Amino acid sequence: MGDYAVSAFNVAKFGGTSVANFDAMSRCATIIENNPTTKLVVSSACSGVTNLLVELALGVQNPNDRDAIFTELKTIHYSIIEHFSDQQKTKQAVDDILEILAGMAEAASFQSSDKLTDHIVACGELMSTHILTQLMIERGIQAVRFDIREVLRTNGDFGKAEPNIPEISALAQQKLSPLCQDYVVITQGFIGSDVDGNTTTLGRGGSDYSAALIAEAVKACGLEIWTDVPGIYTTDPRIAPKATPIPEISFSEASEMANFGAKILHPSTLLPALRHKIPVFVGSSREPEKGGTWIRQQVESAPLFRALALRNNQTMVTLRSLDMFQTYGFLAQVFAILAKYQVSVDLITTSEVSVSLTLDQTNTSGQAPELPVDARAELEQLCNVEVEHNLSLVALIGNKMSAKKGYAKQVFTALEDVNLRMICYGASPHNLCFLLESQEAKHAVEVLHRELFE
Ligand code: ASP
Ligand code: MG
Repeated sequence: MGDYAVSAFNVAKFGGTSVANFDAMSRCATIIENNPTTKLVVSSACSGVTNLLVELALGVQNPNDRDAIFTELKTIHYSIIEHFSDQQKTKQAVDDILEILAGMAEAASFQSSDKLTDHIVACGELMSTHILTQLMIERGIQAVRFDIREVLRTNGDFGKAEPNIPEISALAQQKLSPLCQDYVVITQGFIGSDVDGNTTTLGRGGSDYSAALIAEAVKACGLEIWTDVPGIYTTDPRIAPKATPIPEISFSEASEMANFGAKILHPSTLLPALRHKIPVFVGSSREPEKGGTWIRQQVESAPLFRALALRNNQTMVTLRSLDMFQTYGFLAQVFAILAKYQVSVDLITTSEVSVSLTLDQTNTSGQAPELPVDARAELEQLCNVEVEHNLSLVALIGNKMSAKKGYAKQVFTALEDVNLRMICYGASPHNLCFLLESQEAKHAVEVLHRELFE
């Protein structure tokens, strides 16, 4: 990493709602024009398109139903192209993609597969980037479309492909960086390709991650994530309406937030940016004048309380054994069993004869993680096992929390009428976590926000 010389350009990523229609896309163009250092633009599919493609990929049997989806896809894309003075080239490009897509959708109606699915869902980004490029050109910008599959090398794990960082970096230096000298390059988020040239995807919502990977590979000086909210909020404004956007936040705080369920950024998105300390901006392309949140390595203010995150669907496992009393090795045995069944642990607290832990959310469905039956059986040889559901985790995120005095009273007074099931504190100076019953979670966030942030 020693020779990581930062280039002078900025990468801007636009999410699906930012490129949903002509007006939205035009706002993106203005944002790009307003920052002359923006040389690389990563775009999602137009809003709603990936969902339609997923439907096709699952296999739509009835040809009329398939046609209806194609009509919707055409309407979304044509209604933007309609505004162009030169429509022919872009319409042709979109039609060519739709034609290939029709063949794949028919194939998927007989038999779907992960590989075919990736080829199908990639079409959204492939179309939106043709359109955004032409829109930029018509505004007099020297823009060019680039197929990111030439650079974003992944393994062949369709649907959740892992990027090959060294290869991406080498390919980007060779193919992408030189292009950025002369053009504003418009490219796709979410998609990549394996060594055999098959199209792959990084998983739903993956284009933030793409943008960070690309920013890392071209050694960008900044990464802007344009979405539909003006930055990261102190908490979900649907729970606490007085929540406010945070102007500046450190990588460690932001990772904690993502980790604890703040939905604004894909949790792994920050990793490439973090590796190279690339400042990340999150803002709303609808209201860019409202500003947004900067995520940086070094921030000017490090307040004691920064934000509150809420994560539902927690599973808590409590293990009790009198044998634990003043002996050693009990936890080692417990963790050996958990490791054997690949159960990842999130929070943990212990007492003399018991240990409570929560299970990590490894599935993307948002459902509560389960303790595998066999793991439970083995643990029961060792101790008494209790599993509880319907729990939520509230994380108070801040700075130097373990070095400051006097705030515990305020926190616990706010939570006076809440039944706290577990508290985690001390391992990181950045958080204080509470596990509580899900029905009380919103109330807990609300009162904590009122007491500590308003
Ligand atoms: N278009 C993809 C999705 O909707 C990727 C993204 O937008 O981040 O999941
Ligand atoms: Mg998205």
